[in-house]
Amino acid sequence: MKFATRLLNFDACPGDPYRPVATPIYQTATFEQERADGFGPYDYSRSGNPTRSVVEEQLARLENASRAFCFASGLAAITAVTRLLASGEEILAGDDLYGGSYRLFSRILSRTGIGVRYADACNLTAFRDAFTPATKLVYIESPTNPLLRIADIPALAELAHRHGALLCVDNSAMSPYLQNPLDLDADIVLHSATKYLCGHSDVTAGVVAVSDPELAEQIYFLQNGEGSALGPFDSYLLLRGLKTLKLRLDCQQRNAQYVAEFLASHPLVQKVHYPGLASHPGHALHATQARGAGAVISFETGSYEFSRRFVEAVKLFHITVSFGSVNSSISLPGCMSHASIPAEVRAARSLALDLVRLSIGIEDESDLVADLASAFEYASSGTAAAPAVRTRGPVVDLD
Ligand SMILES: *Cc1c(COP(=O)(O)O)cnc(C)c1O
Repeated sequence: MKFATRLLNFDACPGDPYRPVATPIYQTATFEQERADGFGPYDYSRSGNPTRSVVEEQLARLENASRAFCFASGLAAITAVTRLLASGEEILAGDDLYGGSYRLFSRILSRTGIGVRYADACNLTAFRDAFTPATKLVYIESPTNPLLRIADIPALAELAHRHGALLCVDNSAMSPYLQNPLDLDADIVLHSATKYLCGHSDVTAGVVAVSDPELAEQIYFLQNGEGSALGPFDSYLLLRGLKTLKLRLDCQQRNAQYVAEFLASHPLVQKVHYPGLASHPGHALHATQARGAGAVISFETGSYEFSRRFVEAVKLFHITVSFGSVNSSISLPGCMSHASIPAEVRAARSLALDLVRLSIGIEDESDLVADLASAFEYASSGTAAAPAVRTRGPVVDLD
């Protein structure tokens, strides 16, 4: 079956005598047992819940995994993966990562005695040199966030396995529709389901999916033992969002290509980062391991002040730290989602303050481009007063 069919073709409620088409929300903490000396299929919602089981099984199928586990957020999912390591062991992470992952690794994991090294996962020679005998987990994103650089996933899997380490790929920017890291030999695929999987900016959720049954048991043990599983209502929302994943992403990706080409031809844009552009250095590599470029674009203007005025002038894009929603959004990663990365580290990774990130939604593409065009005009006009845009609260820093 093709992906669009697989998104809809699953048992919404195994064993239910009424055959509901939508999965019921089992909003219960406990399940009564028939016997005092044994458990039925469910006993307590931290350990297992029927609504969560349906979405976990569906996600496992979509990622070609044996099992998938849903967590309260992407970071809760990442935390569970890091728990596979013991004190004294190390993570080797790509150096262009979601800011929250960087904060977890650098400021929280360091307290537990787990070491973290960073290296450029898009440069295999540099990355190979960063392994140590203590490296047990390789953690990467491809495309990276926010620079949309491409890492060679099968080559990194081979490198990790040769050093006795597991490869975990954060697949949030692609979703299983566009990329299946387990098929590329990764051991663990991870999602911030808050992004494309849910798709509507109304849930935070995370997913860990694996093929190896023993690894699956370990992840389940952590999910239950640490109490970080996704609740029934959020599981329901995730399942509901998932059904339109292809429909949304097809539209978002088409719009993104249109916007990226507009930006690439705009005189006030210095550089566009989007793997769907033939000029992108990772364009060919990405095409060997993914089925589309996604809908996140970043670009540089050469001036922080210009970028800030630009971001504040757009009207159709919400200023938010997230991406992957049906609504288009815009951010300055250097001041928002990646603000938790120290300035000198940001500079070393060419994560400049003028970098603008767009997440393209399902609006009409000509309206999006017209909005961007008028924001460029405003930002370059030198007018002191801000235009009459919408009202909104303060920009929320990730910290
Ligand atoms: C948002 C994001 C996360 C964190 O997910 P939350 O659901 O916000 O906890 C992790 N990785 C990537 C690539 C993300 O974009």
